[in-house]
Amino acid sequence: MIRKIYLDHSATTPVHPEVFEAMIPFYKERFGNASSIHLFGREAKVALDESREKVAGFLNTDPLEIYFTSGGTESDNLAIKGTAFANRNKGKHIITSSIEHHAILESCKFLQKEGFEVNYLQVDKYGLVNPDELRKQIRKDTILISIMHANNEMGTIEPVEELSRIARETGIYFHTDAVQSIGKIQIDVQKLGVDLLSLSGHKFYGPKGVGVLYIRRGVRLTPLSHGGHHEKARRAGTENIPGIVGLAKAIEIAQRDMEKEESRIRLLSDRFFDKVMQRIPDVFMNGHPERRVPNILNLSFKGVEGESIILNLDLKGIAVASGSACTSGSLEPSHVLSAMGVPPDLAQSSIRFSFGRSNTEEDVDYVAEVLPEIISKLRKMSPIYEQSKS
Ligand SMILES: *Cc1c(COP(=O)(O)O)cnc(C)c1O
Repeated sequence: MIRKIYLDHSATTPVHPEVFEAMIPFYKERFGNASSIHLFGREAKVALDESREKVAGFLNTDPLEIYFTSGGTESDNLAIKGTAFANRNKGKHIITSSIEHHAILESCKFLQKEGFEVNYLQVDKYGLVNPDELRKQIRKDTILISIMHANNEMGTIEPVEELSRIARETGIYFHTDAVQSIGKIQIDVQKLGVDLLSLSGHKFYGPKGVGVLYIRRGVRLTPLSHGGHHEKARRAGTENIPGIVGLAKAIEIAQRDMEKEESRIRLLSDRFFDKVMQRIPDVFMNGHPERRVPNILNLSFKGVEGESIILNLDLKGIAVASGSACTSGSLEPSHVLSAMGVPPDLAQSSIRFSFGRSNTEEDVDYVAEVLPEIISKLRKMSPIYEQSKS
């Protein structure tokens, strides 16, 4: 039987068994609509309130500031477009970075068509945003700054505390996409000093199709969906109670196991990196060597197409990603690696290994066994690699 090894936890994670258990009753006997006033409705409402309290506790904030959405993409859209529309009388200028997730970048592009102006901050070779650069770009009419917490392609952690302080000094709203950080780093919205923060359930062993937007009290935001008065009239639509219960359980488990898991994953990732570097020449790491989430390792294998590596690993039952999952399949090099100044050929040859709960030492040893053969086979077929050697 072929081994199956999943090293794509930044794309999605399996639902934790305890999370699944917690969700089941809300698909069966406790199926009520949280807006109904009868017993069934009240049961759902209690579950909704308890979940909101749990999430709020984890983020160190008030339940009134927690809004449930359909995932990271919706949270990002609501944060960006919602604050832009509500504050357009104050100004039409937004600042973000060039390495954000497409949910942010495409929301910003949409706003540009609506007459907003957006600045995309450049990053250094490690993918870090420079706080001085942010300061320079701020204008009188800047209404929103959105910089992600940890990058989904190479794991670099942005200096969010420092950046949000600048936003606060100048009275500008600050949003961060923390989808990749939950369960890896302590996320405390007070310490981070942010006004809005996005999360997604399925990136930390919760279900797909459910997310959170933290909105600090007093932030002006226009809803994007209209209907009932759900989520304090900021996000209409019957609440996904099983999903919300699952997300709350997942956050509880992430909190409970974070320290233990974090150091275990760091060891696995380091072990894998050391073996690869010993066995394969011309490998380059993308992202910050220290300032990054421990579960993401992005490596460029000179002279080889990332897509070919993925297909060859897939034949061995190993699942990895090239660049971001959203851009794979296209021949464009990743916008993140390009922004970091990685040359196009090296960007095309990059692979994202993202480790998670199911991975063992045997898994990473097996991948480190088969990878050198694959790379050397592909390099023998590569005219570019041979040329660069001679
Ligand atoms: C996955 C991801 C999203 C999108 O979340 P979904 O719940 O899949 O819509 C947004 N931002 C980042 C950084 C992500 O990794």
